[in-house]
Amino acid sequence: MSILVVGSVAYDTVDTPFGRAEKVLGGSASFFSVAASFFTPVNLVAVVGDDFGAEALAAFEGRPIDLHGLERAAGKTFHWQGRYSYDLNARETVCTDLNVFESFRPRIPERYRRSRHVFLGNIDPVLQREVLDQVDGPRLVACDTMNFWISGKPEELRRTLARVDVLLINDAEARQLSGEWNVVKAARAIRALGPRTLVVKKGEHGVLMFSDEGSFAAPAYPLEEVFDPTGAGDTFAGGFLGYLAGCAEVDEAALRRAVVMGSTLASFCVEAFSLDRLRRLTRPEIDGRYRLFRRLTQFEEI
Ligand code: AMP
Repeated sequence: MSILVVGSVAYDTVDTPFGRAEKVLGGSASFFSVAASFFTPVNLVAVVGDDFGAEALAAFEGRPIDLHGLERAAGKTFHWQGRYSYDLNARETVCTDLNVFESFRPRIPERYRRSRHVFLGNIDPVLQREVLDQVDGPRLVACDTMNFWISGKPEELRRTLARVDVLLINDAEARQLSGEWNVVKAARAIRALGPRTLVVKKGEHGVLMFSDEGSFAAPAYPLEEVFDPTGAGDTFAGGFLGYLAGCAEVDEAALRRAVVMGSTLASFCVEAFSLDRLRRLTRPEIDGRYRLFRRLTQFEEI
């Protein structure tokens, strides 16, 4: 069953202690689409400028990613620049050039409207609702947001969240959105706004999920080499929702497997700049690491 994703397709410039990548493919919808495409067909809605080259486009080719909704506008592609210190959990945004993204109004092509799953990437909550107005009764709506919208458009964000099933945010965003320092209290407050399932991402400290059945924790995979964390959150979301889209039922057991699948995909993303690792990733590698995740968290009863 297909997924509709709306978000950014970008050129990123990234500095890490291990090197620099200049104007490489990035954006929330790019990481999400490639990760989800390992499991299910993806319908992509985003905008790029006339500078968006064939090399970047090649990341989506040969995969079940429909590019009918990838608009090309006159001007430059959205550009984001970030810098990491040795603490890879702390990221500094050097600049955000919205370019063609500034006047982006997502138009959902007719053939995407019956997508059974929707991922609302981190865009203006008003636009996120406009996307929902254009789709026909999806099975599951998942959503991302960030501090900019939590403080800038709190009422609009609340109206969007009332229509969302799964919210995926990081721990700082969960605190800001709820006004609660404690993450368990924050989860209770956020779930009361609409999303029955809340996934809180904590970078190298893993993920916490809160649902009707209680809470579930997954660690981040302990990697020897972490090269560039950019896109890990969106890659997690792609693995999570892509996996769920292929499940006959979205119950607690499926949600838990999806959290581990999201963590699995994210663990590959951070091994290289941009989408480089995801582009050469294979399904057997994914399945192998998923199994290692199971081993990592298994222990006997006392
Ligand atoms: P993540 O590391 O998962 O939070 O995602 C990083 C990606 O988000 C980068 O590839 C950026 O191009 C993209 N990005 C950064 N800021 C924004 C923004 N304000 N709106 C949309 N996408 C953004």
